[in-house]
Amino acid sequence: MARRWRKYQELLETRRRELIGELAARREQMAIEPGGDPMDRMRSFSQRELAVRTLNLLSAMLAEVDAALDRIREGSFGVCRACGRPIGARRLNALPWCSLCLRCQEAADRDEREAA
Ligand SMILES: [Zn+2]
Repeated sequence: MARRWRKYQELLETRRRELIGELAARREQMAIEPGGDPMDRMRSFSQRELAVRTLNLLSAMLAEVDAALDRIREGSFGVCRACGRPIGARRLNALPWCSLCLRCQEAADRDEREAA
């Protein structure tokens, strides 16, 4: 494996463990059954909604981290998947799981905003 990505691999693996731990904790929270009181049930319903959204977000992040670790193994890490240019070190330090360079990310964000 490419030595130069070692630092990022460690960052990603740490993040991965955190995410897995957090997912497990959230799933446990969701497993708690609401009490018989209707107010309690309503409260737990909206908490559950929030928990589901958080779970989805956490799983999406975990998928991104996994994909980045795959890219390290395949040797395509640090290369923008849209334009093929290298992703800046500063950007990789901040977001080691990103797969787009800053320019392509900005373009993608713009498209998303225009589509919305
Ligand atoms: Zn790019």
